[in-house]
Amino acid sequence: MSQLALFEETERITLEQAQRVFAESIAELRVSRTRQPVHVEFYPFVGINHTIRFRDGQLYVRLSDLFQQAPPEVIKALSIILLSKLFRRRIPGAVHSAYRSYVNSIEMKERSLVTRSQRGRKLLAAPKGRHYDLTILFDRLNQEYFESRIQGVNLGWSLRKSRRILGHFDPSHGSITVSRIFDHAETPEVVVSYILFHEMLHAKFATSSNFDLKHRHSRQFKNEEKKFAEYDAANEWLKAHL
Ligand SMILES: [Zn+2]
Repeated sequence: MSQLALFEETERITLEQAQRVFAESIAELRVSRTRQPVHVEFYPFVGINHTIRFRDGQLYVRLSDLFQQAPPEVIKALSIILLSKLFRRRIPGAVHSAYRSYVNSIEMKERSLVTRSQRGRKLLAAPKGRHYDLTILFDRLNQEYFESRIQGVNLGWSLRKSRRILGHFDPSHGSITVSRIFDHAETPEVVVSYILFHEMLHAKFATSSNFDLKHRHSRQFKNEEKKFAEYDAANEWLKAHL
């Protein structure tokens, strides 16, 4: 999923922290004596899902990206659950309930709904909104910055007013979604164009040979993003209003 860098919330757990939690749990459960690194990544599964597996003596863990904002104790509980399942250990009840209560929390339900609607069924509303027509903005940007080379993209406003996900490019559906929250008279056109431009860059990079799934906002991407004429103004508006 692509989010503007601005929106990548700071309080989320880092991969290093998550790796440390898993290493700690391995030591506590005494499931492995080797001090191999644990590979942890967050993955945009549809809904809540996690995977753990051994490969060549190393552990590979994929956690639902819905857990990126989970408190450390929830990541800890999750690490014990996944390791216990892998090594066929009994999972303590308290660990289960710590995990379940987070999953059940209202916030999680809401986020899960948002992602399901955006990733699963790919529902998006028409590109012509109340205030802005994404097709018009797209065509203008395509001409100005991309030599009209970005073709076959489905545009749409999101069904929900998301503050967390400003825009989204989905390579499998070739679609760009912009959060409906910006289809508003008080949103400057340049801000809508900027979000659209950011997602169009993802569309452009997705078809280029140096596409990098892990570093979607690569240095090259960021340099190109700065070519947007009102880059500073758009970013300042977003910082001030969200
Ligand atoms: Zn992005």
